[in-house]
Amino acid sequence: MNMKQNLYLEQIDGIPLFSERVKGQKFCRTRSQLDIMQVNITNRCNLSCKHCHVDAGPTCTEIMSRQTMKDCLQVFEENKFSVLDITGGSPEMNPDFQWLIEEASKKGIHTIVRSNLIILTEKGYTHLPELYAHHNVEVVASLPYYSEKDTDRQRGIGVFKACIDMLRKFNQLGYGKTPDLVLNLVYNPGGAFLPPKQDSLTLEYKRKLMEQYGITFNKLYTITNSPIGRFGKFLERSGNLKPYMNRLWSAFNPETLENMMCRNQLSVGWDGLLYDCDFNQARGWTAESKHQIQDLKGKSVAARKIVFGDHCYACTAGSGSSCGGTIA
Ligand code: SF4
Ligand code: SF4
Repeated sequence: MNMKQNLYLEQIDGIPLFSERVKGQKFCRTRSQLDIMQVNITNRCNLSCKHCHVDAGPTCTEIMSRQTMKDCLQVFEENKFSVLDITGGSPEMNPDFQWLIEEASKKGIHTIVRSNLIILTEKGYTHLPELYAHHNVEVVASLPYYSEKDTDRQRGIGVFKACIDMLRKFNQLGYGKTPDLVLNLVYNPGGAFLPPKQDSLTLEYKRKLMEQYGITFNKLYTITNSPIGRFGKFLERSGNLKPYMNRLWSAFNPETLENMMCRNQLSVGWDGLLYDCDFNQARGWTAESKHQIQDLKGKSVAARKIVFGDHCYACTAGSGSSCGGTIA
């Protein structure tokens, strides 16, 4: 466990431990057959968003090696995972990113790439939208809001306009318009509050983006900000950590437990270490086995006990939250 990353989220007075809320229930373990392998292939990112839970930024140096990617693909196939979910940082900044996309495609693996879109406007990356289309990669793109002011406040001046230009390019390539080219967007709240209802915000995004920019997309995922990483530090500095945690736990919804994303996935860090999810990864909390991906080659991925912390309240508040949006 990396203690440095856990100094700012100790148990808060009056808030029951998350692990106590789920103790003894079937939700404490993963399913026996996992569908999603999420690989975090670099912490490097061209942006440094204030809500970032992984503390990503331009100076980060963690990069998954090609050998570790090969190990991931081998374990993926041997254990019949369904979806390879590539994330970061900005995953495009790993020098072997394109190799991973092409290898996964050769093996017929359904691949998701999580992109901040801005990276695709930078030198050395502008060819990637065509590459994604060629390999039917599903794109999950961050768009903090459908207005310029709100998006630029969260991500930096000029980000909204660049995102709109890139979404238009994806539409021109057929994304959001043809069944094999899926374009999903992600909304994160701009502060210490829960996201609005996913269904109603989807309608708003669809209407505004079509009316004002002629943009179409498949689904909008609303994701609750996790009180860790840079966002956790911001909450602590601004005196908002306790009120935010109170907001999350008082909105606890037991209906979300069945579909918590950790129950159906294996998360792999840049160095091959295994985690239950990207949030635990950001906290330095490895999966119970403490294994690396290479240890699983030629073996079955067994069901395991999930490692919970109080940041898990972000996944179970209201309609719940996961990398695929709401879960209840
Ligand atoms: S939130 Fe996403 S785009 Fe922003 S710094 Fe973190 S990884 Fe990069
Ligand atoms: S943060 Fe969410 S996905 Fe991760 S272990 Fe907790 S409940 Fe599961």
